[in-house]
Amino acid sequence: NLQDQEMKIVIVGHVDHGKSTIIGRLMADTDSLPQGKLEQVRETCRRNSKPFEYAFLLDALKEEQAQGITIDVARMFFKTKQRNYIILDAPGHVEFLKNMVTGAAQAEAALLVIDAKEGIQINSLRHGNLLSMLGVKQVAILINKMDLVDYEEEIFKQIVDSYRIFLEKIGIEPIYYIPVSGRFGDNIASSSGNMCWYSGPTVLEALDQLKPKKQPIHAALRMPVQDVYKFTGHGDQRRIIAGTIESGILRVGDELIFYPSGREGRVHSIEHFPTTELTEVQAGYATGFTLEEQAYVSRGELVTKKGETSPKVVLSFRANLFWLGKNPMIPGKTYFLKLGTAKRRIKLEGIIRVMDASTLDPNYHPERIEINNAAECILKCDKPIAIDSNYEMSLNSRFVIVDEYEIAGGGIIQEAINERQLYW
Ligand code: GDP
Repeated sequence: NLQDQEMKIVIVGHVDHGKSTIIGRLMADTDSLPQGKLEQVRETCRRNSKPFEYAFLLDALKEEQAQGITIDVARMFFKTKQRNYIILDAPGHVEFLKNMVTGAAQAEAALLVIDAKEGIQINSLRHGNLLSMLGVKQVAILINKMDLVDYEEEIFKQIVDSYRIFLEKIGIEPIYYIPVSGRFGDNIASSSGNMCWYSGPTVLEALDQLKPKKQPIHAALRMPVQDVYKFTGHGDQRRIIAGTIESGILRVGDELIFYPSGREGRVHSIEHFPTTELTEVQAGYATGFTLEEQAYVSRGELVTKKGETSPKVVLSFRANLFWLGKNPMIPGKTYFLKLGTAKRRIKLEGIIRVMDASTLDPNYHPERIEINNAAECILKCDKPIAIDSNYEMSLNSRFVIVDEYEIAGGGIIQEAINERQLYW
């Protein structure tokens, strides 16, 4: 099922290093363009007596998208035998960072493009920082325009060696370094006869080898408790625990653990309006269930299953967040955090670094998080909270921060801190 096999990727790099050309190539060489598009763009170039460029394909698609003609077809997308790829568009860094950090769009992998002739630019460094801030772990570095340097192995190696040192410093371990030419298609969809010294994968092969994100239904059960309803049925008082299943499957007979309380219970019945005969419900559905023995559970707890990966119950965690607040986020002040149905008072305990979303310039250990800054920071709650970190379970790792009744930030939990803060 290709729908299950969908991977979102992002392509970053200094302007003119060849991102659009590579995207155009990927789409054209995998037959993923709308029918007639390639010919149409070639024809337009001929009429205007300018040489055809793969980058023009993208311009043409985006133009249609802007005019609202064929929004679906114009989506930047390509397919291989393995799966579908969706290329997340980055209209501007501010929008892009905001979308990524708040989860409106989350890339599972990234291609970072460097021009072989121009070499590493300050933006190549900034984009490396961007990927590390976003927590994108699967990265392939494409050394593009190899045709302009006579497909020389030495030049490829020099760039790779110095870029590798930089990436190590910021904690990114690229999976592949690939020498390519977007213009001529070398090592994009098929291996290049011009670089026999290179024995690694093409860009497409590299992408197809990446690990896709776990589908929510295949992950551990997570259901934030929305509400608990009391009713009288079968002669006794019962409670229906209601909420939306974010991941996993809930079945009658399942042994559950509620976090952060640690209370336990076994599912007696699933009360799924209008059918009450269900024996299981899966991720994506709002539902309710009763327990065999009543347990006191309230809104804000997280329903999980015994024997599956459990969440961590902590006070503090490291997170990447994007700040939208009119006032800067500062240590010492109390904010509200919402994660699923849980709500806590929180404080900013420390700022590891921030990144100005428009310049991508990093700043280490600043005193505050300004509007439109992405930040890696430590947050501390007033009471224990059940969290999952980004890579384990993405849905229960996204939070929103409220300041003065307004949403002022959003982010992704990266890592639990202080696991010994369990309190039951
Ligand atoms: P972007 O700004 O990163 O999207 O870069 P473009 O894809 O628009 O490419 C910038 C320029 O570099 C265009 O004129 C492309 O034709 C050219 N270019 C891109 N890839 C290659 C390549 O592999 N070889 C050569 N010679 N030129 C390229």
